[in-house]
Amino acid sequence: MIGAIDIGGTKTMTAVLSDTGSIIESRYFPTVSKDWREHFKITVDAFQTCAEPYRQELSGVGINVPGMADSQKGILIYAPHQNWRDIPVAEYFRNALDIGEVSVENDVNSCAIGEMIFGGGGTDFLWITISTGNGGAIVANGKLILGANHCAGEFGHLKVEFEHPRKCTCGQVGCLESQSSGTAIREIFQEKMAEDSAFLARVKETEAELPDFQRDAWGLSILAERGSETAQEIFWTAGRYLGRAISYGLNLTNPQRVYLGGGVAKSLPLLLPGIREEIKRNAVPGAADVEIMETKLGYHAALLGAGALVLQDRQP
Ligand SMILES: [Zn+2]
Repeated sequence: MIGAIDIGGTKTMTAVLSDTGSIIESRYFPTVSKDWREHFKITVDAFQTCAEPYRQELSGVGINVPGMADSQKGILIYAPHQNWRDIPVAEYFRNALDIGEVSVENDVNSCAIGEMIFGGGGTDFLWITISTGNGGAIVANGKLILGANHCAGEFGHLKVEFEHPRKCTCGQVGCLESQSSGTAIREIFQEKMAEDSAFLARVKETEAELPDFQRDAWGLSILAERGSETAQEIFWTAGRYLGRAISYGLNLTNPQRVYLGGGVAKSLPLLLPGIREEIKRNAVPGAADVEIMETKLGYHAALLGAGALVLQDRQP
């Protein structure tokens, strides 16, 4: 059995997993504390509650952190949402949990390792999240590419729009994250409602019919599936930006497939025409021949990824 801790930007999960990636026990709670010690203490208590009955059987604990991590040293270098810097995560949890084997990794990198071990598998693939932001990871020849300073696979900040770029959280403009994340799609949806009264009327009609409807990327996907051409076009454009970023990755690493995760990846059928169009335009022919699919890990991709870190470390 494996311990898994996923410290996300907004939510933390602790769990015990079987060696084949089934969730046996889990707890979740918000990541609210600005003080990492306070949050880690809450996390340790939650994990111990989950793990108590399985204590003797645990082979190790994998921990995701919401930012750049040095997995060799077990250190969180920087988490922008919490403004946490240079935190000795592995050392803290090793002491607090009294467990020898503790692995630490950036959450999107963990998703890629989880995909290798518990998901769709593969030795050469890209893993890209479409959620609040866009993150990414690269697996080549069966190994996660870490990079010299632990920031390989930053798909979110590849430049994909040069003529009418939107502002990015990183301070630059035209990054994938500013054009095609769940946040960007929601903002573009809202801008369209402000400028197109027929579209706004259609949104209001749908709201009256569906009480749970929300004016976000998920709501927009419902409109698109119900035939709104404006909604379909927003997804097509978002898909094109994704396709540009993916093309850069295809030409550099020639993967066999691309996995998409995060909430907006559920709308892959709406994004795919735009993605394919740009891959055809920008990727070299050998590299353009690639499968594009939603992650096989489902909603708990990051948590399963954290658990997979423990198994990965045992591999030669
Ligand atoms: Zn950026």
